[in-house]
Amino acid sequence: MAQDRPILVAGGGIGGLAAALGLARAGFTVTVLERAPALAEIGAGIQLGPNAFQAFDHLGIGDEARALAVYVDRLRLMDALTAEDIASIDLTEPFRRRFGNPYAVVHRGDLHGVMLRACQAEPRVTLRTSSMVTGYEQDGASVTALLQSGESVRGAVLIGADGLWSRIRQRVVGDGPPRVTGHTTYRSVIPTEQMPEDLRWNAATLWAGPKCHIVHYPLSGWKQFNLVVTYHNDAPEPVAGQPVGEEEVMAGFHHVHPRAQSIIRHGRDWKLWVLCDRDPVERWVDGRVALLGDAAHPTLQYLAQGACMAMEDGVVLAQEMAARPEAPEAALEAYRRRRLLRTARVQLQSRQVGEHIYHPAGAHAALRNSIMAAKSREAWYDAINWLYGETGLDDAPSPRAALAGA
Ligand SMILES: Cc1cc2nc3c(=O)[nH]c(=O)nc-3n(C[C@H](O)[C@H](O)[C@H](O)COP(=O)(O)OP(=O)(O)OC[C@H]3O[C@@H](n4cnc5c(N)ncnc54)[C@H](O)[C@@H]3O)c2cc1C
Repeated sequence: MAQDRPILVAGGGIGGLAAALGLARAGFTVTVLERAPALAEIGAGIQLGPNAFQAFDHLGIGDEARALAVYVDRLRLMDALTAEDIASIDLTEPFRRRFGNPYAVVHRGDLHGVMLRACQAEPRVTLRTSSMVTGYEQDGASVTALLQSGESVRGAVLIGADGLWSRIRQRVVGDGPPRVTGHTTYRSVIPTEQMPEDLRWNAATLWAGPKCHIVHYPLSGWKQFNLVVTYHNDAPEPVAGQPVGEEEVMAGFHHVHPRAQSIIRHGRDWKLWVLCDRDPVERWVDGRVALLGDAAHPTLQYLAQGACMAMEDGVVLAQEMAARPEAPEAALEAYRRRRLLRTARVQLQSRQVGEHIYHPAGAHAALRNSIMAAKSREAWYDAINWLYGETGLDDAPSPRAALAGA
């Protein structure tokens, strides 16, 4: 395809690299502008639903991604006050048959590395670091990214994949800082031998307690365990990645069962995040500029879907651009339409899951336990079908039909 100017992508996180890869595979030249001096991800785990694997296949990295995943065989819900099992969702063969792909957990750095190597091997992708985008200008025929250095970079389209604190969003939407949720998350990754032996389950496990929960799962070929503990302590200010001591982490967990507490005691080098999200908005596009990933629809991590949605965005963006290469503004609008309701549902439902499943107390928690324990495997699968089964990624428009309609 003839293309005078590259597509510019602000941000080289999982969303930005997915967009770059998808667009390059569709024949576009792409320049990624990342503000950090190196392209990297924080050292923690990430859960990947079957929809992530569908996205990997569309991006041409399915084999590489599958090779580094740990395939957990259950999503296990425990009561953090009693240390009793509440319910679990079977992720083995019946799950894979139903959703066409597995459920897995990976190290973020490993996943980002797969995407980065694929971009580096792709001649159509240029990766630029130390390139902070502070704004943009557009004239109807092109868009110019303005960098902090004073440099201007001209492109056909600009994708704002610059995360929760997106500068591009402030031009497109202008809705100020994200919402501080008051939920504080602490993360630690420990060698498997430091995890209590009787808790080395092949499961993504969540211990639900009043105003708090604990998550753990194996990583990196079972060499490590990922620990994530969250406390709804009404923290007022956003924080990202601040080192904290064990006593501060334990402060929110004195009321839970000693077995649940012991998980925290095994953590090392804890880091703290005060979680933020946003209400869904309809405006993601401004002419030749569009938002993607956390810049467009930041969410609590309670459905484990922020990165999965960012990758899906990258696939759909590439499909719509490929269908309308001569009409980028229409392509961005088609991308937005295909992604809006699904990502809004993830944003809103993630909050609901926190309030009604992970953090309730008393009768509310007892009701949760009773309803969840009674659910059959098929009922679970039906309940999550919208997320894992109805991704819309295979609904790509036919290029010729789309061009005719553009
Ligand atoms: C505790 C926790 C657990 C999570 N667990 C899961 C999970 O299990 N599964 C899941 O799918 N998701 C999970 N998520 C969500 C997931 O991490 C995010 O949704 C995902 O990383 C978003 O990717 P992104 O590329 O949109 O943004 P980011 O990862 O934030 O990347 C943005 C990139 O843009 C760069 N940048 C920022 N500003 C600029 C600028 N002005 N110019 C140029 N570059 C810029 C940044 O340096 C960064 O590289 C979790 C999140 C948290 C906090």
